[in-house]
Amino acid sequence: MTKIDQIETWILDIPTIRGHVLSMTTMREQSVVLVRVRFSDGSIGLGEGTSIGGMSYGAESAESIKSAIDCYIGPALIGHDGDNINGAIALAEKVVRGNPIARCAVETALWDGLARRLDVPLSQLFGGAVREAMPCAWTLASGNSETDIAEALEMIETRRHNIFKLKIGKRPVRADIEHVGKIKQALGDRASIRVDVNQAWSIHDARWGLKGLQEIGVDLVEQPIRAGLTTALRGLTTGYEIAVMADEALQGPEDAMSVAAERSADVFAVKIAQSGGLKRGSEVVAIAQAAGIELYAGTMLEAGIGTAAALQLFATVDQLAWGSELFGPLLLTDQIQAEPITYADFSVHVPQGPGIAVTLDLDKVEFYRRDRNRSLHSIAGE
Ligand SMILES: [Mg+2]
Repeated sequence: MTKIDQIETWILDIPTIRGHVLSMTTMREQSVVLVRVRFSDGSIGLGEGTSIGGMSYGAESAESIKSAIDCYIGPALIGHDGDNINGAIALAEKVVRGNPIARCAVETALWDGLARRLDVPLSQLFGGAVREAMPCAWTLASGNSETDIAEALEMIETRRHNIFKLKIGKRPVRADIEHVGKIKQALGDRASIRVDVNQAWSIHDARWGLKGLQEIGVDLVEQPIRAGLTTALRGLTTGYEIAVMADEALQGPEDAMSVAAERSADVFAVKIAQSGGLKRGSEVVAIAQAAGIELYAGTMLEAGIGTAAALQLFATVDQLAWGSELFGPLLLTDQIQAEPITYADFSVHVPQGPGIAVTLDLDKVEFYRRDRNRSLHSIAGE
């Protein structure tokens, strides 16, 4: 039996390439919790737990993710069979309620370790990849219309992205509609324009908002109102032609089931971290497929490890009608993995190789560690 011997965690603080203006906060750096699991046969697995904008987005922070793993999930799993991931998931869910990002980070490392031991890509453990690349959106969130337009035009010119998600909800609805309208007018039919309100609108705001966005020709609106308001979300979904996507409303399969049962959204943004891991993420995908709800591969703005893990899962999904937003590494000034993930031809390419198919650049990891004045060789040191 290949046992789980050790679970290590580090917080890395990596600057973003520009301020990322969201309805709830402005991000200037991303705090990433890196997880490394060591198994009894000497193999290792990597995972990442990352959220958006500290605790302004959700209930977990880099610090809470690290402590949930160090104090609860890790001690419960040490000595457990590293090949029995379903057993490990059940145990982690028993010792820790909620905290889906922390559980996902550890689970990812277990899948990565198992796939590396089997010398297969992680996607093979989910039935095999049906795609080597997927469309990848970019998020325009500089907070300024002209800056966003220039950024989008450059992305189209370099064939990096032609799907743009605009982060709105911070300003009054009319100002937001005006901002989105300017960008839609500048880009025309060269790009798909979508917006993410991150729950900021009241139900009444949202009625005006969806009407305005629909008139402009925006393709999709993401989580316009609070996550718990699924019946009101259903009203918006049925009341307008513009596609409505659920994001924060989907904290795992149980939420997915209730949103699907009410048909409260047209599209699910599936995030492995928000779902509580790759396994639960795949269950959210299955619920959407069964309910005729379309799919989009969402991000918590993870760095390269979490992004590579999500790519492995979504490579196994045959119908990904709205593509992905797995651009996290591009928002950071530096990449922590040894091999950059390829973004080209308006798509993100799935790294090829065993496990999540990326490895760490240990010098970069050392550089961005929050506790880096501790022993410099504790990560690299074997
Ligand atoms: Mg979102």
